[in-house]
Amino acid sequence: MQHSSQNEAEPFLIFGSPPIEQPEIDEVVACMQSAWLGTGPRVARFERDFAAYQGLQPSQVAAVNSATAALHVSMVAAGIEPGSEVITTPLTFCASVNAIIHAGLTPVLADVDPLTQNIDPAAIEAAITPRTRAILPVHFAGRACEMDAITAIARKHDLVVIEDCAHAIETTYHGRKTGTFGDFGCFSFYATKNVVTGEGGMITGRDEARIARAKMLALHGMSKDAWHRFGDQGYKHYQVVEAGFKYNMMDLQAAIGIHQLARVERNWQRREQVWNLYMQAFADLPIGLPAPPQTDTRHAYHLFTIMIDETRCGLSRDAFLDAMNARRIGTGVHYLSVPEHPYYRQRYGWRPEQWPHAMWLGRQTVSLPLSPKLTDADVQRVIAAVRDCLR
Ligand SMILES: *Cc1c(COP(=O)(O)O)cnc(C)c1O
Repeated sequence: MQHSSQNEAEPFLIFGSPPIEQPEIDEVVACMQSAWLGTGPRVARFERDFAAYQGLQPSQVAAVNSATAALHVSMVAAGIEPGSEVITTPLTFCASVNAIIHAGLTPVLADVDPLTQNIDPAAIEAAITPRTRAILPVHFAGRACEMDAITAIARKHDLVVIEDCAHAIETTYHGRKTGTFGDFGCFSFYATKNVVTGEGGMITGRDEARIARAKMLALHGMSKDAWHRFGDQGYKHYQVVEAGFKYNMMDLQAAIGIHQLARVERNWQRREQVWNLYMQAFADLPIGLPAPPQTDTRHAYHLFTIMIDETRCGLSRDAFLDAMNARRIGTGVHYLSVPEHPYYRQRYGWRPEQWPHAMWLGRQTVSLPLSPKLTDADVQRVIAAVRDCLR
């Protein structure tokens, strides 16, 4: 790969680099100085703030240490009998499917709409069997799934809905926040997501009793959390009422999240600007661009994905990834479809061709940098690199 000496001098543009600012740095230091590192007052505040942002009560959210944990614990808390089937999308991160498996349930894939890249409600209907108990839609890239159709299917067949909102903190659908349509919403604060805590997640839900159960399951199945246990009100016995997990969020993580969340709208606005710059700059290229956001919805602009079709572009997707890397631009792939991975093929006998839309999207998709940290010069660099690769 040849590149000019000018390119060599340019810093590598890391994909998904989180915008860390002074307030969260100070809060982490204050947390360290308080010596309260585990689940405590900062987690409680982060839960209150997140609930307020989503239009929920604090009793309708539970902070955990990842979205993977949120998905797992939600399915356990939903009380779905083992062996039941859960329908999800093949165009998602492996964690959506692994969480189903770890809850003792069987994943069933329903193909995506090739335009929106979200699970197709008609494909959900077609995948329903007498063993189906839940639907796990993923709001891909921050675009809301068809929640009217999905909730109608869930009502008709008496199914639990667990929304994977890892990309969708800011997303709304017909005036309502995603994560509030289903029984549970599961959010991620992983380092590349729209609000970061390093590792972290949140469970949301309308039913306070179910959230309370999820919260308890996330801390060993103990009836009181460590905050009460190790407070200054004297020793309190705890009772283990279920075989739970170790999924609680630390105050150190919440310290970052509190200030990240305070800037969630500002960061969203910057990503929307970058998104629009990309849309304009790439309009004349032989690549696929994201579908325009649906009316009466709000896109979270988590991923900007382009489609590289070798026959139209003159180079393969993987060659494009290498060419961007040579130009010192980080990219991502979201995602190879789930059945491309050997584990699922071996365990379930899946072949990618069974879900052709997800297969083709997964083989052509490239995510470009969309961090709110990008300067205008960075954005122009990405645009120039994309155009150069496709010349
Ligand atoms: C990131 C992600 C997850 C997992 O989130 P973690 O917080 O890293 O566990 C789950 N689903 C989707 C769609 C994701 O992008």
